[in-house]
Amino acid sequence: MTLYFAADRTLGKLAKWLRILGFDTTFEIDDSAELFYEHLAINRIVLTRTGTIKKQFSDHRLVFITSNYLDVQLKQVIAEIGIRPADTRPFSRCIDCNIPIVDADPDDVRCLIPDYIYEIHNEFHKCVQCNRIFWPGSHTKRSLARIEHLFD
Ligand SMILES: [Zn+2]
Repeated sequence: MTLYFAADRTLGKLAKWLRILGFDTTFEIDDSAELFYEHLAINRIVLTRTGTIKKQFSDHRLVFITSNYLDVQLKQVIAEIGIRPADTRPFSRCIDCNIPIVDADPDDVRCLIPDYIYEIHNEFHKCVQCNRIFWPGSHTKRSLARIEHLFD
């Protein structure tokens, strides 16, 4: 199941976490207004907390978010859209750029990361847009625990 989301300006954290789960998610603040509405036109699922947007996009697939709490928001999206753990691709996408990250050769990223990280890891990924380097770390473990909790 390939899902595309568009989050309104009040839902930045939710957008970030949908990207962590691997879903293509545009965030209103990242785009010009024109581009954001263009994105909506290609049938993204609208995520909003705003009544006027709910009305305006009543012909779209839409989740009207009711909670202020991130975990509750994520669980609402998962429940209403029917997302299963197998639909997710955790840590496959740049949190900032919303594009898939790619494998990186350790030798190519050596000068971009701390020596001790290079010494203990042999698997690296990078975002070709912002050049950020990713490796399996403690943050990933904490995030994975949070993701598992979402599907309890
Ligand atoms: Zn990036």
